[in-house]
Amino acid sequence: MKLKSLQISGFKSFADKTTINFEDGITGIVGPNGSGKSNIIEAVRWVMGEQSAKSLRGGKMPDIIFAGSENRQPLNRAAVTITFDNEDHFLKTDYTEVSVTRKLFRNGESQYLINQNECRLKDILDLFMDTGLGRDSFSVISQGRVEAIFNSKPEDRRVIIEEVAGVLSYKQDKQKAESELAKTNGYLDRVSDLIAELQ
Ligand code: ATP
Repeated sequence: MKLKSLQISGFKSFADKTTINFEDGITGIVGPNGSGKSNIIEAVRWVMGEQSAKSLRGGKMPDIIFAGSENRQPLNRAAVTITFDNEDHFLKTDYTEVSVTRKLFRNGESQYLINQNECRLKDILDLFMDTGLGRDSFSVISQGRVEAIFNSKPEDRRVIIEEVAGVLSYKQDKQKAESELAKTNGYLDRVSDLIAELQ
């Protein structure tokens, strides 16, 4: 699986539609301070499901929409599409190329798409779960995060290791099964009570 391209439009400083193609090898993005390098990385995290406006350096989510400049009106919509080559089916889907799109409108409405088909945020989170690519993954490390990981509590560091090891989805399945079991036990208690009352 390989990152192929990123298309950004109306996201932070990227008012115009901008496409970045990632060729083989290492890609470096260089530019003067404030030119939007970090915004590109934030676009990657956002399209993969980031839900915290704060971690995208905003107060609320619509702050990520282009807010206007001296000679340009603000925009009403941000859209980011990330495309992966999935020939090796590293992402658990039949598609050999996977594109994920996220859109946000100034009225707060959101839209999520996988290969142009509308989907839920959960579908995107599930797609990246345990791949090491998700919104909280270690594969995107923003400024200051390395230090934060070193200084984090052992329990928080454990979550990172569990994501790397790919056990997070099993843990979630286990939690779901446990809560269903508890619910079923509750029903059984209720049935026992009813039987006792009827006898
Ligand atoms: P540095 O090298 O200093 O870390 P950088 O190249 O990473 O800088 P960014 O932090 O990505 O730069 O970009 C900051 C720029 O993005 C600022 O000029 C800021 O005004 C602009 N910006 C952020 N949010 C928006 C927005 N919603 N609309 C328009 N511009 C925005």
